[in-house]
Amino acid sequence: MSRTPLLGCIADDFTGATDLANNLVRAGMRTVQTIGVPTEPLSAQVDAVVVALKSRTIAPHDAVAQSLHALQWLQTQGVGQIYFKYCSTFDSTAEGNIGPVTEALLDALHGPGQGFTIACPAFPDNGRTVFKGHLFVGDELLQDSGMRNHPLTPMADSNLVRVLQAQTRRKVGLVPYTVIAQGAQAVRERFAHLQAQGVSIAVLDAISNSDLLQIGPALEGMQLVTAGSGIAIGLPGNWQRSGQLPAQQVADVLPAVQGGAAVVSGSCSGATNGQVRAFQEAGHPSYAIDPMALAAGRDVVGDALRWAEPLLRQGPVLIYATAEPDAVKAVQAQLGVAKAGEMVEVALATIARGLVERGVRRLVVAGGETSGAVVQALGVRQMQIGPQIDPGVPWTWAPTDLGVDIYLALKSGNFGSPQFFLDTTRGSA
Ligand code: ADP
Repeated sequence: MSRTPLLGCIADDFTGATDLANNLVRAGMRTVQTIGVPTEPLSAQVDAVVVALKSRTIAPHDAVAQSLHALQWLQTQGVGQIYFKYCSTFDSTAEGNIGPVTEALLDALHGPGQGFTIACPAFPDNGRTVFKGHLFVGDELLQDSGMRNHPLTPMADSNLVRVLQAQTRRKVGLVPYTVIAQGAQAVRERFAHLQAQGVSIAVLDAISNSDLLQIGPALEGMQLVTAGSGIAIGLPGNWQRSGQLPAQQVADVLPAVQGGAAVVSGSCSGATNGQVRAFQEAGHPSYAIDPMALAAGRDVVGDALRWAEPLLRQGPVLIYATAEPDAVKAVQAQLGVAKAGEMVEVALATIARGLVERGVRRLVVAGGETSGAVVQALGVRQMQIGPQIDPGVPWTWAPTDLGVDIYLALKSGNFGSPQFFLDTTRGSA
C-alpha cells in the first residue's frame, strides 16, 4: 500500500532489533531488519525498517555517530516516524548510550534544544513494567534484579527519570500511571504541560499491554519515539486509522524458497543442549564438531560438508559444536575462552555457507555470537521478518551474497522449546 516505509527504527543491538521487528510484524506491519546501515536499496517493499546497530556499550560519541548515520539513511528512505529501540531493562552504562543518542536524535530532528519525545522500556509480556518511573523486572525492582550484576551494563537504580537525567542535558520528566490510565487525550495534555515546563523527554509508566495500546494514539505524529520493543504494539493503529496501513494486514508472508533444511548450532546453553538431544532422538542425522580437532588443524569443515552433502536430499541435518558445560570448560582450559569461541564460530559459519552452496535454503542457527558469524559469512545484509516460531524468534527471508535467497531462523541462548530444531526443519527435502 504505502510506497515508503512509515516507521524507521534504530536498534542498539541485533537481537533487540529482531525482537522489535517481530512485534511490528505481529501488529500488522511488513518489516525488514538490516544489519548495520545499508549501502544498498531495501530488499522488499515494507511498512517498517529496523536498522540493527551494535551501539549499546560502545563509547557515547561513537553510538551517537552511528545512530545519526542510521537516521540519515532512514530519512532518505522517506520514513515518517523514528523509533530508537533499547533493551526493556534499559541497559546502559553510566554514560549512556540511551541519553546521548536520544538527545542527538532530538537535536537532528528538531534543532538543538528543541523537540519532545518519550522513554518507555515497558514490555509487560516479558515482565518489564514501569510504575511511578520505576522499572520492574518480574516482581523485582530493576535494581534488585539480576541486572544489578550485569557484566557490561549493571543497573543499580530503577528510577528511570534519575538514570536518564544523569545521561542527558535535556530535562527528563514523568507521565505517571494516574495519567496513563485516563487515556491518550490525558497523556497528550500531560506532554504539553511537561513541555511547557521545559521537559523534552518524558518517562512513561505502563504496566500492561492495554496501557501500551492506550498510549499509542498519543504518539501519533511524534517524530521520535524512544522505547523498548513493547511500545511498538500501539503504533500501527495510528496508520491504520489514517488509512496509510491496511487494517488486519497479514504482515508475515515471506517469498517462497525451495531446498534442504539444516541446523548449525554453536550455542552451549541448557535449552540448546536439549534441542540437540531432541533432534537426535527423533532419528535425524547429526555431526559433532570437535574444537580440539579444529585446533589441531584437521579439515573439520570439509569433513562435515562431505558428510552432509548426500544426506541433505533425504531430510534435515544438524551440525553442532554444542556441548555440556564440563566439556566446554575442558576445551576452554586448553585453548583459551576467546580462541575456542572464535575458532568454533568461524568453522560453523564456513559450514553454514557450504551448506547453502549445497542447496540448503532453510537454515536454523543456534547461538547469538554464532548467528552473527553465520550472517556475516553468508553476506546477509537485510532480513525480511516472517512468522514467529517461538516467542521472540521469527522466520526471516534473507538474500545472500551467493545469489540465492534463504529462510533463516536465528535463535540465541536459551530461546526455543525443546522441539525447536524439529519444528523448524519439519517437512524439508
Ligand atoms: P549463546 O547464544 O548460547 O550464548 P553463542 O553463539 O553466543 O551462544 O556463544 C557460544 C560460544 O561458545 C561461541 O563463541 C561458540 O563458538 C562457543 N562454543 C561452541 N561450542 C563450543 C565447544 N564445544 N567448546 C568451546 N566453545 C564452544
